[in-house]
Amino acid sequence: MADVIRAVVQTGPRQIEMREFPRPVIGPDDGALLRVEACGICGSDVEQYRGHLGQQWLPMVPGHEPLGIIEEVSASAAARWGVQPGDRVAVEILIPCRSCELCLAGRYMSCRTRIGSHGGGNPERGLGPWGGFSEYIHLHPNSILHTMRGDIPAELAVMFNPLGAGVRWAAHLGGVGLGDTVLILGCGQRGLAAVLASRAAGAGTIIVTGLSRDRFKLGLAREFGADVAIDVEAEDVVARVAEITGGAGADVVLELTPMAAQPIRDALQAVRWGGRVVLAGLKGGRPVELSTDVIINKALTVMGAFSVDSRAYAEAIRLIEAGRFPLERMHTHTFGLEDVGRAIETLAGEVPGEDAVHVAIVPGLRCLSMLMPM
Ligand SMILES: [Zn+2]
Ligand SMILES: [Zn+2]
Repeated sequence: MADVIRAVVQTGPRQIEMREFPRPVIGPDDGALLRVEACGICGSDVEQYRGHLGQQWLPMVPGHEPLGIIEEVSASAAARWGVQPGDRVAVEILIPCRSCELCLAGRYMSCRTRIGSHGGGNPERGLGPWGGFSEYIHLHPNSILHTMRGDIPAELAVMFNPLGAGVRWAAHLGGVGLGDTVLILGCGQRGLAAVLASRAAGAGTIIVTGLSRDRFKLGLAREFGADVAIDVEAEDVVARVAEITGGAGADVVLELTPMAAQPIRDALQAVRWGGRVVLAGLKGGRPVELSTDVIINKALTVMGAFSVDSRAYAEAIRLIEAGRFPLERMHTHTFGLEDVGRAIETLAGEVPGEDAVHVAIVPGLRCLSMLMPM
């Protein structure tokens, strides 16, 4: 292997460049060296790229949804993780301390003494632990890994991330169970993942919403098992859900739309008496005007869905490995490391004519295309 590896570094809003670094050396008490096969992109990457998440983290190597092959691993880390060179692993974003009260209670996503994160903000300014927009990642001994079968195409295997969110928000927090009516507001990759997870959890009727321009995604939602797809620009969501449920409302509502306030009010109206509402669509820090009386009077459970945990990632990986759903229908774009900026702009809808749902960076893409000229 080369002594020099390449990684994408973000230095400012919309400013990214390729840099070369010495290949990390894995010491005896160290973690591992991961060869990145693919790294997913989500709305957070768009926000980070645009500079909306603050610049105190820069410069950094972004990419917080990495999947790869263990290239080298210390003996102690191999024993703790149960991995060996050649194994495929999905990497979680956070590197928790693993010893504070929150970590010990299983709430490691909120660890305040975390070591850092792969591709998210790191406590120490500077490059810190790397993200996945890189040929290789140096894994810290506290990094959290999930082993995964190696025979699934990397662009699909890397969907452990959006699927993990769908599993946690629909099944674990929403408690979707047999026969439940589920309303999913928003049909991005996480909305689609929530459709899959709800279907897998045994939901009865699944209703998903989108805008008029989301026609393609709403069609995918139907393919993934949604019974009804509502264009919110053409139909009234609350009235439609009332009609479908005979006036009762949905058992579980997931609010996954970015920035918009109306879907939160719709969620509270469309959920049944005593139902659950899971909020996962960030509104950019803006206040949302709503009547809390409806929460009291309908005895609702309203939950904030911060992050995804290991249990959800593990179940998402089993779902991918089961091969029950046509995940390839959701994967729309693959880019090499050189095209990270364009990849993020494509997911953000900034590239005219491109209808992106799931976008992945595959660092080996350039080599592959050199091997297989087409
Ligand atoms: Zn993400
Ligand atoms: Zn901790």
